[in-house]
Amino acid sequence: MRTVYVGEYPAIQHRHDNGDIVTVRLRRKADGIRATCEGCDTEFVYRKPSPSQVQHYKSPLLPGVKGNFDAGDDEH
Ligand SMILES: [Zn+2]
Repeated sequence: MRTVYVGEYPAIQHRHDNGDIVTVRLRRKADGIRATCEGCDTEFVYRKPSPSQVQHYKSPLLPGVKGNFDAGDDEH
């Protein structure tokens, strides 16, 4: 039996070789949340999606900071 890690819960949809779309429901067990599909001999193990490794920057579309930005070039 092969093991597939999934990030969806509580139902896993997957396709069998014959084209069937099969849904299996994950069940909470002592060693994790898993589902077994005997049709394709696969065990699905739920794994929480890991947080994004990409650093998030502030959107440049945020409103500008209020304040006096007089650059001193009004007197030209
Ligand atoms: Zn299956």
